Amino acid sequence: MTKQTRDDSMQAFMPTPIYTLPSWNPEEDQDPINWLRLMDITSHDYPYIIALLENTCRNWAPQLPSTLASYRAEWFVTDSAGEFVKSGEDSPPPETERTFVEMTRRCLKENQVVISRFPGGFCVAAPVLTRHTAELFAVLGCTIRGPETAADFAESWVVMAAQFFKTCFYKEFEAMFISDLLHVQKLAKREEYRRSILFQVIQELHDKKDVDSVLTEVFGRIAGLFPEADVELLMSQDYLSRDPRVKSLQLQEARDSICARAFMEGVPLRSGNGGGDGEDCLEIAVPLVGKQGVYGVFHLVMPPGDVEEVDLQLVSMLADTAGSAFESAKLYEQSNLLVSELRLINELTKRLNQSLRLKEVFKFATEELLSIFRAEFCCITQLDKEGEVFEVMASNVPALSKAFFSKDYGFSGLVLNTREPVILSDYKAYGKVSSKLMDETDSRSLIVAPLIVRGEGMGAIMLAHRAERFFSYENYRLLQVLSSHIGLAIANASLHAEVQRMANHDMLTGLYARHYLDDRIQSFQKRDEGGSLIIVDIDLFKQVNDTYGHQIGDKILKQVCSIILRTVRKTDIAARWGGEELAIYLPGADIHSGYQIAEAIRLQVAAECEPRVTVSCGIAEWNQESDKISVESLFYLADMALYKAKKNGRNQTQIGLSPEGER
Ligand code: GH3
Ligand code: MG
Ligand code: MG
Repeated sequence: MTKQTRDDSMQAFMPTPIYTLPSWNPEEDQDPINWLRLMDITSHDYPYIIALLENTCRNWAPQLPSTLASYRAEWFVTDSAGEFVKSGEDSPPPETERTFVEMTRRCLKENQVVISRFPGGFCVAAPVLTRHTAELFAVLGCTIRGPETAADFAESWVVMAAQFFKTCFYKEFEAMFISDLLHVQKLAKREEYRRSILFQVIQELHDKKDVDSVLTEVFGRIAGLFPEADVELLMSQDYLSRDPRVKSLQLQEARDSICARAFMEGVPLRSGNGGGDGEDCLEIAVPLVGKQGVYGVFHLVMPPGDVEEVDLQLVSMLADTAGSAFESAKLYEQSNLLVSELRLINELTKRLNQSLRLKEVFKFATEELLSIFRAEFCCITQLDKEGEVFEVMASNVPALSKAFFSKDYGFSGLVLNTREPVILSDYKAYGKVSSKLMDETDSRSLIVAPLIVRGEGMGAIMLAHRAERFFSYENYRLLQVLSSHIGLAIANASLHAEVQRMANHDMLTGLYARHYLDDRIQSFQKRDEGGSLIIVDIDLFKQVNDTYGHQIGDKILKQVCSIILRTVRKTDIAARWGGEELAIYLPGADIHSGYQIAEAIRLQVAAECEPRVTVSCGIAEWNQESDKISVESLFYLADMALYKAKKNGRNQTQIGLSPEGER
């Protein structure tokens, strides 16, 4: 038999068998009992058989027949090196012990029964031989105090006792052998089971592409191995999972905890010496390690005992496999995220090219942000031109729509001040900044990014959710990237709107430009029932210029324009038609209301303008019955009426009538 310890076998979870046994082929060796009987110890085993000899002593001694009881007999047993086997009884007196040593030495040397006499007794030592090769592997002896005549009788008794000892020894040996055999079988079965688990896990994890399902799989497997254990996964990074068993690892707070140590050292650890008697529970920390680092720690708490080292090794191997799978899944998710990030940026830019309308950019950004981040609420704010107040430009929270806030208020104020994005896992616990968005919606999670364009802070994007810890670090980072694109889109659209505004307006008077008026009249004529046009012309303006100079002329022109603007409705369109001629389109108004407006303007000009000037007005209307509905014919009629007013002496309003409609 080859020496193997159980400890050796337990250390290993290796592909090669480590416990060798004499082979027994059930086909050839029909009789397992016979096979067992053929087993024997060899000289290699001698150094290790003390424990077996001790057990034998314990079982053999009580079974000895009591024939020698009338004599005082003291037994001793040694191994083949003369080492005494503890019998459990009190040590003999030194003199007797000396005799034992001497007798053992002689017996080992002579390899046969030896006897020595001393006053009042004698001592016998007999070799105990292996069952097949008859090699000495132990010495059994005893001192007997009694008459000399008992010596011969006692010698044969000791020899028989040695024979009986041998029988007892082999009984122990066979029992140990069988128990070892069963143990090895059990180990082999377990190992097979573990291998199959590991194989299944590797296969399963190989197919998993998302981080959550990798972790769910590993949780399931660990629970299968340790049904009694409480298992949690403490993640070091900002990894959020819907699984309540996934928590965050607080390295600062619990620097000395077994989990923190397992994380730092990157190796599995267990509490104490492994569930000793004094411990209430066994705690195990297994790091989740990938190629690029340690991501977290599996933390198991279970009743002590009943946990084998190999099971822990299996958990550790599971965690290793999970670590790599987690890493790949994470990379896969990250690359997906990058792809969708690029797609989104692409989409945003495309939309931007399609429409430069500010309203559409805000609407599109809000919709996209809500869907990308699975947020419940979104709010985009923008600073006004003076940089004094924020206006809510877009939000799916009705209470915030078009609301104004001071530039320092809330998270918009905060991020524009720090120029850094913010992520909040729980607004209620934070309490440092108040936010109408968060209060109105009863939200707990928030990510905010400043809108910065060409170095200028111009607003903020806020995304909120009612659940705690809803947004991840990736969300936070992505919003930061997107906010610069959205900021640019908003800035471009604003710029475009400004250019458009400038193109549609006359710089001197602030009225609309003529082309804008033409376009609008055209679209009104497509959908309205009718409308009126007034042309206002300053009387003898050339003279005014000549008398007071062009600058004063300009001032008068502006005065007339501001009278027009304050007299017309918001829906009316006042434009500079050319030179000192101004035109006002009144959507839906008939010629009579047009006349009243024109007269109101004329009278105010005459009364207010300084130096004194007057204006003449020509009006025309169109309706569905008009002969010809066009911008040109409307202007023509109004111009004709103006001409009439001039001809009639100026400072008056004339109505233009179509040639057939002379009323
Ligand atoms: P009428 O009563 O017949 O309209 O006489 P009028 O002098 O106003 O008419 P006319 O068409 O002969 O002259 C228009 C003048 O308006 C010529 C030009 O000097 C002046 N004018 C046109 N645009 C401007 C402007 O932007 N600023 C100033 N100061 N004058 C302008
Ligand atoms: Mg004029
Ligand atoms: Mg004129």
